[in-house]
Amino acid sequence: MPMNRKEIITCTINGNPVGVPPGTTILDAASTIGVFIPTMCFQAGLEPTAACRICLVKDEAANTFVPACAARAEAGMRVTTENDDIRRVRKFTLELLFSDHVGDCEAPCRLACRAGIDIPLVIRRMVESDLEQAVHALIESAGSADDPCSTCESECEKACRRGRHDAPLSIRHLMRYVWEFGVESGWADSVTPRASSERGKRFRCSMGGLKKGELEEFLKDASPAGRIEPAREPAEGYSNLEARSEASRCLQCDCRKAQTCRLRRHADGYGVRQRAYPPEERSRFRRIRHHGIVYEPEKCIKCGLCVAITEGKREALGLTYIGRGFDVEIGVPFDGTLSAAMATTAAECVGACPTGALAFGQPFETPCSWEAAGQRRL
Ligand code: SF4
Ligand code: SF4
Ligand code: SF4
Repeated sequence: MPMNRKEIITCTINGNPVGVPPGTTILDAASTIGVFIPTMCFQAGLEPTAACRICLVKDEAANTFVPACAARAEAGMRVTTENDDIRRVRKFTLELLFSDHVGDCEAPCRLACRAGIDIPLVIRRMVESDLEQAVHALIESAGSADDPCSTCESECEKACRRGRHDAPLSIRHLMRYVWEFGVESGWADSVTPRASSERGKRFRCSMGGLKKGELEEFLKDASPAGRIEPAREPAEGYSNLEARSEASRCLQCDCRKAQTCRLRRHADGYGVRQRAYPPEERSRFRRIRHHGIVYEPEKCIKCGLCVAITEGKREALGLTYIGRGFDVEIGVPFDGTLSAAMATTAAECVGACPTGALAFGQPFETPCSWEAAGQRRL
């Protein structure tokens, strides 16, 4: 249907004229001409809250900054979406978010690993009984299909956080177990190691030294068993059962959204310094989990997406804001559980959460691929 010219308002975005129907947001107007504006708290279909302010753009005609997700395009607006001033404002906004953000993007073991193996991810796949994906994670992150542990001196184990409690994980045995399984099963042949350019240095948020009680938060999820050594000749390595038991001792110290976190991606893009505005005292890290859903409140940026989703889908319990001012946080009303709050919307909430605040942990019992792949060592 031809558009009625009276229904169109015209503004400019980065110097380009744009005609859109009244009521169109600047974000949508920009997308019609292929201009990307970064967002975190915006999700199509939900009312914009302009909570995170990362989408601020400048209306040169009014000499003001406005949030592109919520502000409507108006006739005569001259919008600039990216320049040094805007980058500075976005960087400042992000650095403020990091002032009370607590978590490790990468686990200590991975930072210490010379081969760059994503150790917690490999172990997570083992605990999830998905050994094929463990093989993929190992070879992809190591960037090579060769035995990644053949020459190193287990620096990862010296750095392992579990060592502060009883004994570090036997990471070397675990990685070799997965690698050998990959070779013998043929799974390794189908994996493309990631190029070194894709494994380059990224922004890394770090908790620094643990505070009193934080180790216990990590220990909540892990097997209490002590370190398990291979019962047979060390050269033979772990049996299936030993490997699985040892893997379940892992504290999962990394962030489950490290590869997809939008906060981290923007921090990379805007050259953010994590401790540009350090708090007088950093908050204590917490990890709350229930039936496979993991909530780490100190990674929440209060974008409100999860609250809006549970409200919109009429969850019986849902999520809500609890507390006031700086102390406000997302929580479950009436001391309910996470899984009850997101009974039908867990996947949507986890998918929408722009950070690692909401994630999936180990799933409910899944069929085990280890035995399916063969009884190699049992
Ligand atoms: S939420 Fe994002 S920035 Fe924070 S620890 Fe996780 S990956 Fe890093
Ligand atoms: S407990 Fe697991 S994730 Fe944490 S440092 Fe040790 S092996 Fe890595
Ligand atoms: S938990 Fe995630 S989706 Fe919910 S408010 Fe916090 S950052 Fe946003």
